[in-house]
Amino acid sequence: MNIQAKQGKCFSCCQQKALTEEHIIPQALGGKYSAWIYCKDCNDNFGREIDSELVKNLGYFSTILEIDRDRGKNQPYDISVVKDSTELTHDGKKLARKKPVVKIEKVDDNIKSIDIRARSESELDKIIEGVKRKYKLGGSVKKIYEEHPGPTDTKRDFVFDNSLIRRAVAKIVYSLICIKLPESYVLSVPFDNIREYIRFGCEKDLAAANFTHTDFMTDYTRPLHKIHISLNRCNNLVAGFVCLFGTFRYTVLVSDNFESLFEWPGLDYTFDPVTSREIFGNPNFKAPELNVNQLISPRHSKQFVLDELSKGHKILESYIEDYQFLKMELDH
Ligand SMILES: [Zn+2]
Repeated sequence: MNIQAKQGKCFSCCQQKALTEEHIIPQALGGKYSAWIYCKDCNDNFGREIDSELVKNLGYFSTILEIDRDRGKNQPYDISVVKDSTELTHDGKKLARKKPVVKIEKVDDNIKSIDIRARSESELDKIIEGVKRKYKLGGSVKKIYEEHPGPTDTKRDFVFDNSLIRRAVAKIVYSLICIKLPESYVLSVPFDNIREYIRFGCEKDLAAANFTHTDFMTDYTRPLHKIHISLNRCNNLVAGFVCLFGTFRYTVLVSDNFESLFEWPGLDYTFDPVTSREIFGNPNFKAPELNVNQLISPRHSKQFVLDELSKGHKILESYIEDYQFLKMELDH
């Protein structure tokens, strides 16, 4: 098959190059919307550096929601049981021990009992055989099947806000702009800062996790992905809003010096990763008009964020009947 590469200006490095396909929201998070907007080098760098960080931390939502991916498999994720720190792994279907455990109880150098925990019966049999051989044991074997019905009493450490994730979120917003606005706007000077930030990072972040000004981002019933971009023409301000899985919410300072002669309608994209369908929205929806500080340094307390996350988890709970939801540890 002869695949003709599309030539064009890369919207990241601004060079004339062969373009590659970019998923606006990473595929591993269920994203389906794509466009040919970045060259291979830029695309590869983004994937390796910033998308991987976002996916590493939020990709397990795709796993537990059993979201289909065009390419690759959902990442199994590890959790530990609160009560005894047992390491479990979840592959999207079931929980299993991460690794087998062998505990030997000795009294005066004599083996009293051996407790073996394995992930499958065949693994158990193999370990029993090995242990018997090693210690020259006879004795009886008693097998017990343990079940881990769901992560009811488990915890998982993860991060939803750090500077790599912020850049990945800024790219989600910028990529939608690349598709929706004319090329001459996108490649104009007012968007140089956001391009620079996405590619290399800056001393000052241009995006932030934001739970105080983004209430409207979720419908509180579905784990939707949403991107919204609005122009505040009086202040030359372009603001981006991103919500992932109806739970994780961010704001992006796209530009604070964008002059426009006319108003845009808000650019909006809403997607349900579970049903894999675009959601066509609410005509009365309006993003708040925020100033620069509210966009990049929102003031929310840790408790406020926790409460908002737990609301998000309720949405997920209703989607995942089998799994009572997780107690999460925040690194924030
Ligand atoms: Zn490029």
